[in-house]
Amino acid sequence: MPKTLRHEDYTVGWICPLEVEQTAALEMLDEEHERLPQPSTDDNVYTLGSMAGHNVVIAGLSGPNNTSVARVFANINTTFPRLKFGLFVGIGGGVPVKTDTGLIRLGDVVVSKPAGGHSGALQYDHGKAAVGQFQRTGALAPPPNVLLSAAQDMAAKRARLREAPIKKNISRIDTGVPGLRKYKYPVPEQDYLFDADYEHLTKGLSCDECGCDPSPRSKREADEVDEPHVVVHRGNIAYGELVITKAILRDKLAKQYGVLCFETEAAGAMGALTCIVIRGISDYADSHKNDQWHGYAAAAAAAYARQLFFHMPIDEVK
Ligand SMILES: [Zn+2]
Repeated sequence: MPKTLRHEDYTVGWICPLEVEQTAALEMLDEEHERLPQPSTDDNVYTLGSMAGHNVVIAGLSGPNNTSVARVFANINTTFPRLKFGLFVGIGGGVPVKTDTGLIRLGDVVVSKPAGGHSGALQYDHGKAAVGQFQRTGALAPPPNVLLSAAQDMAAKRARLREAPIKKNISRIDTGVPGLRKYKYPVPEQDYLFDADYEHLTKGLSCDECGCDPSPRSKREADEVDEPHVVVHRGNIAYGELVITKAILRDKLAKQYGVLCFETEAAGAMGALTCIVIRGISDYADSHKNDQWHGYAAAAAAAYARQLFFHMPIDEVK
């Protein structure tokens, strides 16, 4: 029998806009709890459960856009009054730059952290971005200190381990189940990077099909080919309504504000629950983007989020 807790027992919200992200989140729960009644004004559907001793509310979204994200955040806060903060977990477009932890690649994880005078999650303006001018039009509040400390503690401890816990979390997803096959690690040869001024050749076809020619990348270590090591980068994430598909624009925006990753939904999280943004890199925010890495990148982000719970002080959260 699943446990039944009270609304006040839940202290962390986990918001994942896409279905592929939501399934990965559910796979990370230690146990699932009985559902609780909610006000008729709240149209979110929640999964309740626990991870590493913390009680978590997981909410997906019917339509991933800023308005639905904002609604999810508003409702979750009302129905579960003791939520201290949120994890905004999913996939994003990475900037192929080198950080302290290495080159950003597909399947890596980027986590929001204040850097260069910015809060860790900054907004680029829709209209302005389209003409290549990046004007910062907003920002999320910095992630709560307790999560920043947890992320740092996790990084410090992880560096000393031979067996990476994030990898272990990813393996909770049994890719032998037909519905979970999409979470399999793609062959690393499918990690293509193209020169910024090289546009995708034929819309609607994959890079292989239309013969796009990737630029040479530094090879992964041989021991990483079968068992990838999830590299975590911490810094600024940019969000806006416009999906970035021009690599030249991507690089320009990234350079201007030290952005490591782009995503399109965080604007809805503005002003609500304070959040840390966790993104698995599924493409390079260029015209060659495709779905091949969505599953694995979503799994990597969820696996990172799960691990973070082991580094949050339980007293602080409650
Ligand atoms: Zn292409």
